[in-house]
Amino acid sequence: GAQATEIDTVIIGSGPGGYVAAIRAAELGQKVTLIERDQIGGVCLNVGCIPSKALINVGHHFRATQEKNPYGLTMTGSLDWQQTQDWKQHQVVEKLTGGVAMLLKKHHVTVIQGEATFNDNETLNVVQSDGHQLLQFNNAIIATGSRPVEISKFKFGGRIVDSTGALSLPEIPKRLIVLGGGVIGSELGSAYANLGAQVTIIEGLDHILNGFDSEMTKPVIDDFKAHGGEIYTSATATSATQTDDEVTVTFEMAGQTQTVTGDYLLVAVGRRANTDTLGLNNTDIQLLDNGLIEVNQAMQTQVKHIYAIGDVVPGPALAHKASFEAKIAAASISGAPHAYDDHYALPAVAYTHYELATTGETPETVIDKKIDAKISKFPFAANGRALAMDASVGFIRLITDKQTGAVLGGQIVGPSASDLISELTLAIENGVTAEDIALTIHPHPTFGEAIMDTAEVADDLGIHI
Ligand code: FAD
Repeated sequence: GAQATEIDTVIIGSGPGGYVAAIRAAELGQKVTLIERDQIGGVCLNVGCIPSKALINVGHHFRATQEKNPYGLTMTGSLDWQQTQDWKQHQVVEKLTGGVAMLLKKHHVTVIQGEATFNDNETLNVVQSDGHQLLQFNNAIIATGSRPVEISKFKFGGRIVDSTGALSLPEIPKRLIVLGGGVIGSELGSAYANLGAQVTIIEGLDHILNGFDSEMTKPVIDDFKAHGGEIYTSATATSATQTDDEVTVTFEMAGQTQTVTGDYLLVAVGRRANTDTLGLNNTDIQLLDNGLIEVNQAMQTQVKHIYAIGDVVPGPALAHKASFEAKIAAASISGAPHAYDDHYALPAVAYTHYELATTGETPETVIDKKIDAKISKFPFAANGRALAMDASVGFIRLITDKQTGAVLGGQIVGPSASDLISELTLAIENGVTAEDIALTIHPHPTFGEAIMDTAEVADDLGIHI
């Protein structure tokens, strides 16, 4: 092939958007500089996806030791929380972020520790611990991510924490209050409930886990309540007061004022894009009202040689979305083939006690879009592996085109939903039909067989139901 043109590409932020863009751009022949003001790996690796899943995992194991199981194994458990924290930080987070640093080095990416701001459309000012430098770039990718929204009545500090604080509490709370029942609040609430905390979720909407329908969330909510959890929906928190030992939240619900007291209050009411202190006012990029940066299908901003990816652009704030967009931006800069397909399936997962996963169309979206769809379901209670694993709660739902049988979407509640959803996403992306899945040999006994079973139901040829 032709010699790659050497141009200077600068990337701001090293989260799952920025570090993936850096590696891919380097692979495609760019000379890449990556600027990070904090830790390599961004929110996701340091204080997001990964450490939360580490605590969720410990929560599952701890709960198993506290509960009677049906197979006659008696367990007693005690947890050394300090060791849990050390393991999460040193064996999980630092191993991953160290790995990313190694990969960046391997791809000859220059990493600058510092904070970048735009001086104009072509120049960045980078403030470092020992001074500052100006960088002139040919292409830039903004991958500066997001941070927790702070509300004035619930300022972070003391016993009021954001998600970062909630991942590193000095002790397992006996009572935890969670303001905001979105994915982050529900996941961390679920983890601490499994670790023995009495958890109260206060949510403004009339349901928690927005984005997942009530049929999906019911097993999660039932389980949460069965373990002493409280959920207040259509509730507005109005104030919080804290002492040295506890925090009390006042909230309005159904016209009544109520209070709840806990050891800690996690405020997880949303995230805000890190676009406000980037000096974008010195460029020709105009922010949307919500602080996000508008981009085209190649992830270009209004200034064509400045790209933006991840949590700073519209769409769900998810790590895999950031990484997907990173590869588009890197390819576009390098003149390699790239396409942002409008119809791509973007899976989303909630790692609550029972995992929830969705991809592509849902029962609601097919109604909205007037798609003639067929909805087929299969319960894990009819799956041999699930019974053998004592994990039979949940189901698979397949959404297919009634005429062609093409897979348009799917939802999974239950064991390994987060992993299983990829088979359905692959099916959507490749125009696979329910019949194709039904005719694909799935190993027995596996949770994944339930996908084949659901496809057979879609073909009116169900075997196990
Ligand atoms: P970030 O990961 O936010 O990285 C941005 C980086 O840019 C940061 O390191 C920041 O220091 C740096 N930066 C910002 N401004 C500057 C500047 N001016 N100069 C230099 N550097 C700068 N998503 C999932 O898909 N799955 C999950 O399970 C999941 N769990 C989550 C759990 C929690 C508790 C939280 C908080 C989030 C979770 N997310 C999850 C969301 C996920 O973390 C984000 O969507 C993802 O990190 C966004 O990636 P990004 O590259 O856009 O930005």
